[in-house]
Amino acid sequence: MDFNQTENQILITQTIRDFAEKHIKPYMMEWDETQHFPVETLRALGELGLMGIVIPEEYGGSGFGYFEYITALTELGKVDGSLTLSVAAHNSLCTNHIFKFGNEAQRRKWIPKLASGEWIGSWGLTEPNTGSDAGRMQCVARQDGDDWIINGTKNFITHGISSNVTVVIARTGELLDSRGMTAFVVERGTQGFSGGKKENKLGMRCSETAEMIFDNCRIPKENVLGNVGDGFVQALKILDGGRISIAALSLGIATGAYEAAVQYSKEREQFGKSISTFQAIAFKLAEMHTKIEAAKLLTYQAADMYMRGENINKESAYAKYYASEVAVYASTEAVQIFGGYGYIKDFPVEKHYRDSKLCTIGEGTSEVQKLVISRAILK
Ligand SMILES: Cc1cc2nc3c(=O)[nH]c(=O)nc-3n(C[C@H](O)[C@H](O)[C@H](O)COP(=O)(O)OP(=O)(O)OC[C@H]3O[C@@H](n4cnc5c(N)ncnc54)[C@H](O)[C@@H]3O)c2cc1C
Repeated sequence: MDFNQTENQILITQTIRDFAEKHIKPYMMEWDETQHFPVETLRALGELGLMGIVIPEEYGGSGFGYFEYITALTELGKVDGSLTLSVAAHNSLCTNHIFKFGNEAQRRKWIPKLASGEWIGSWGLTEPNTGSDAGRMQCVARQDGDDWIINGTKNFITHGISSNVTVVIARTGELLDSRGMTAFVVERGTQGFSGGKKENKLGMRCSETAEMIFDNCRIPKENVLGNVGDGFVQALKILDGGRISIAALSLGIATGAYEAAVQYSKEREQFGKSISTFQAIAFKLAEMHTKIEAAKLLTYQAADMYMRGENINKESAYAKYYASEVAVYASTEAVQIFGGYGYIKDFPVEKHYRDSKLCTIGEGTSEVQKLVISRAILK
């Protein structure tokens, strides 16, 4: 693995820094306070090529690899985790699912709009009663002539109300049959498909999280992704890649909190000297930095293997599990280093602290990652 940043990675870093300075930082606390989902900002990120980062140029994407993708998410995550979560869900889950498992006609129909950011995507696996145990889903799809009719509710869906198109996994076979689920594309405006309750969250507040309701939603068979019965297996593969993006988002949050804490510790004086001269604070920073570097290595390892087409089931779980726990750890320590100022909203670490917790939950909890890892090492 080559750890030197490519020219593209350097360019992406600078582009995101400039964009964040002008278009994110001045507004993000207001978005956070009001839970405003800034679709217009996502579209602007699309103009920069961030809404189809790993999609080939012939489908309207940027044609980059996973290292560039990680760089983009990490850089954005240093500033605003919740916008980054939206970018990750759009790219890794919705767009990537259609790109990976769609046929040529499906790719041509949906990918260019998603990759440009003109359309926002969502991906529905989770249901009110089935999260970690997604295989027991109750949302059903039954065939009716050349159509499929979907009934059920998905919840906690990123962009569940505002997405223009969604990939939804529904039961088409027997309960507990891993080949009994199928992935469908459903466009907004399709009769019987609506957004439901929008969640009021602890963090990641500008990333819309909402229900998706399917009430006799009829879609043509052309909207089936891959084979009938392959949906769950496809979803697990999509999550393997998605977990790298949550690891990158976690790295961003951890690094943002760490960098803010370093700067503050040098500026803040108590007992006549800067608090960074106290070993208790300096050691916290040393520990944070070491863990961030370790998380980075695991994330890059998973990305490197993914790019080479290897099975990354275990490696993406390592990266997601470790980096997300580091994001929580580093942002918690950053709040501590800021003292009372860490607890108020005038400084960035309070938001990192709230945003970080989602990383240990979404796209498979830390416990589920350990399940994946332990199964792999004990087989
Ligand atoms: C902000 C946000 C955005 C999201 N976006 C999406 C999205 O776009 N699309 C989507 O499909 N989903 C999305 N989700 C859902 C997310 O993936 C689930 O919340 C997550 O998978 C956990 O499921 P659950 O909430 O039902 O928890 P549960 O599965 O009910 O878990 C509860 C607790 O039990 C533990 N647990 C469960 N099973 C086991 C086990 N076998 N062994 C040990 N411990 C276990 C869990 O680790 C957890 O601590 C989102 C969630 C949030 C909060």
